[in-house]
Amino acid sequence: MALTGIQIYKLLPQTNCKECGYPTCLAFAMKLAAKQVELSACPYVTPEAKTQLAESAAPPIRMIALKSDGYEAKAGNEVVLFRHEKTFYNKPGLFIRVYDDQPLEAIKALVSEANGYAVNYVGMDLTVDGFAVASKAGDPAAFANAVQAVRSVSKRPVMLMTRDANTAKAGVKTLQGETPLIYGADAKNWESFADLAKEAKSALGVIAGSLAETAELTDKIKAKGVEDLVIDPGGRDLGLGLANSTVIRRLAIKKNFRPLGFPVIAFPGDAGEAGMEAVHAAQAIAKYAGFIVLDHFSPAMVYPLLVLRQNIYTDPQKPIQVQPGIYEINAPKPESPVLVTTNFSITYFSVANEVEGSGLPAWLLVTDAEGMSVLTAWAAGKFDAERIAKAIKGFNVADKVSRKRVVLPGHVAVLSGELEGELPDWEIRVGPREAVDLPAFMKQAL
Ligand code: SF4
Repeated sequence: MALTGIQIYKLLPQTNCKECGYPTCLAFAMKLAAKQVELSACPYVTPEAKTQLAESAAPPIRMIALKSDGYEAKAGNEVVLFRHEKTFYNKPGLFIRVYDDQPLEAIKALVSEANGYAVNYVGMDLTVDGFAVASKAGDPAAFANAVQAVRSVSKRPVMLMTRDANTAKAGVKTLQGETPLIYGADAKNWESFADLAKEAKSALGVIAGSLAETAELTDKIKAKGVEDLVIDPGGRDLGLGLANSTVIRRLAIKKNFRPLGFPVIAFPGDAGEAGMEAVHAAQAIAKYAGFIVLDHFSPAMVYPLLVLRQNIYTDPQKPIQVQPGIYEINAPKPESPVLVTTNFSITYFSVANEVEGSGLPAWLLVTDAEGMSVLTAWAAGKFDAERIAKAIKGFNVADKVSRKRVVLPGHVAVLSGELEGELPDWEIRVGPREAVDLPAFMKQAL
């Protein structure tokens, strides 16, 4: 049972030494109760208190990391139900499933294509996280060969999907030194699977008929010494899947219910509704999967899922930023205008997309406004004439243009006089307020 801040405070040294980064032990205790800090931040907790606090301090959803050579897919460690309460930390891993009765060359071709796919989104490369090999052939050797085929073209983490312990063992053997997910343990096989997961130091997927049975099974497996579990909430249709995932998340976070305090795995393709896999996957990303296994790979399906996942798992208090600098749009020439904006990614992409779509060449100067949009940055004193002039000089914009002409966003027309003072040999123009009006402005006024 989770301890309250006051109960935790009574177990702390109460010296207010501040070494944990908080002014008092009580402040630290409150943060600990809210699961916003690690107990290890206080170096003076006694071993007895540590034991008492360990259970309370553990994250409500255990973090599970699937590892391979140079790659890691992490899930769990979440502390809130809704992103606006704080943030979501570990993006659900997207895995592509192959079957061991497929020709090995077909497995390699699919895995190779998915493995090489990357979406560049606001300066980040988004990719799938790994592959799941499912047993259909009922033959450990065929399973091992399929795992080997995956490993020959991708180094990303692997899930081993079988209910047969010998088949799982054959898969584990081919992944020596890695941490795969063995999926999975059910009411019949759980003892042999728990032994295997313990020996291989792997994570173990748990499958049961209901949430109550799942909780019972995770308790039994934990008692055997396997803590890294991933739970299959069942319910393959949208409604039941959502209900089960939400109940698990609520029980884990609000009630600190340890038997269900593990990441959830989702199988969007298992609903069997043609063309609906992406919809199921999108729901799983939002609520509340830790791992998602897709049956199909196509850029058209995976691209929006990667972007959706990135947006949901972006800290709302830390805007996504683009690198400040001078960007070329539509192969600008020396006489092309210099447009100015901030480094808030949505602002940057709004401006860049409008100008790019118009086909008109321009230089786009992105100034460092700490990731804020134009008006917010101006109001906060992060986007002013001095900063713009500094960026023009710092990025040597004058060397690129023959006509020194800079266009301010219309929302900060008020800066034009000051900017003339900062850049006396430049022509300062005031552009439109909205990015959508830029092409017409460029055609008519520049
Ligand atoms: S480091 Fe420990 S003893 Fe010091 S203020 Fe923080 S909680 Fe209290």
